[in-house]
Amino acid sequence: MRNSLYFIVLAIMVVSCGSQNNVQKKSVKSKLPVSVSNSAQKPASKTPVKQEVKHEGNYDFFKVNIADVAKNDNTISFGSIVSANPPEYKVVKTFFPAVAQNFRQKYIILHYTALDDDKSVQVLTQQSVSAHYLVNNLGNREIYQLVDENKRAYHAGISSWRGDKMLNDTSIGIEIVNSGYKTDSTGIRVFPEFDDQQINKVAALVKDIANRYMISPINILGHSDIAPTRKQDPGPKFPWKKLYEQHQIGMWYDDATKQMFMNQILPVEYALSIMAPQFIFKYQTALKTLGYGIEPSGTADDGTKKTIEAFQYHFRPENYNGLMDAETWAILQALNQKYPQK
Ligand SMILES: [Zn+2]
Repeated sequence: MRNSLYFIVLAIMVVSCGSQNNVQKKSVKSKLPVSVSNSAQKPASKTPVKQEVKHEGNYDFFKVNIADVAKNDNTISFGSIVSANPPEYKVVKTFFPAVAQNFRQKYIILHYTALDDDKSVQVLTQQSVSAHYLVNNLGNREIYQLVDENKRAYHAGISSWRGDKMLNDTSIGIEIVNSGYKTDSTGIRVFPEFDDQQINKVAALVKDIANRYMISPINILGHSDIAPTRKQDPGPKFPWKKLYEQHQIGMWYDDATKQMFMNQILPVEYALSIMAPQFIFKYQTALKTLGYGIEPSGTADDGTKKTIEAFQYHFRPENYNGLMDAETWAILQALNQKYPQK
């Protein structure tokens, strides 16, 4: 009983913080209310547990899980604490972690550098672009960190996914050393393979980051996914399917669902409808629903072609011609069924 009275008093104090009423905290604290007739209807407030900050090397950190997984909350609080140090005052580093918080890190964006190892380091550390991590292809076990995870790196540029924009603010950028595409005599972009060892490094790194910030598979993307009219990296040789199947990273469609959509497509009718504005509008809408920054117009313009190409780099890399052929359309529908917008 004594405890429940304490919680009621605490609740009154907490509620008072949000109002402009004249609250006499002193009297509330020293004098318990006589009548507690409403106590049965009022749930007792949960007293937050004060967290002790631990020290390790040069770091202060704490670790406590305050996530509500049912709400897809990514707030497992942990890690280093960066705090103010105002002169003559002391910032107390034992504190009540607020429930109302989450991580800023919501996306992982993968790139290739289109440069060799040395040039990659030089450009990403000395010029106006950067990434949090750089994965070399030297066959060793090192991954370079260039930017603190809590700070912004300049890797995404003008970008969007499922309505979020300017993803530098909310992403971890990973650059992978790879020489990038060359255009052949017929104008086709030819992309080089990634090294298997290098991909294993990327997989381990992405998994570590995604687990710590509870990053959704839908938000593990290539640069071309979030900037399809400007970017081609990491390109069609990047093994998204392998990452999904062997490392449970990112999105991939189910073959049976793709086949079901393929079976619904009548080849002759499909060929006739592919240039129809109604169908163009429909697949533009489906691309937008999956996440691409495209506005449905019913016109198959250059931006539409490039967006289809970006989709194919990621999900149908055998043929990236920028045409919404039957297989591309079936895969797109299968993905939207598996990863619906909430
Ligand atoms: Zn890039």
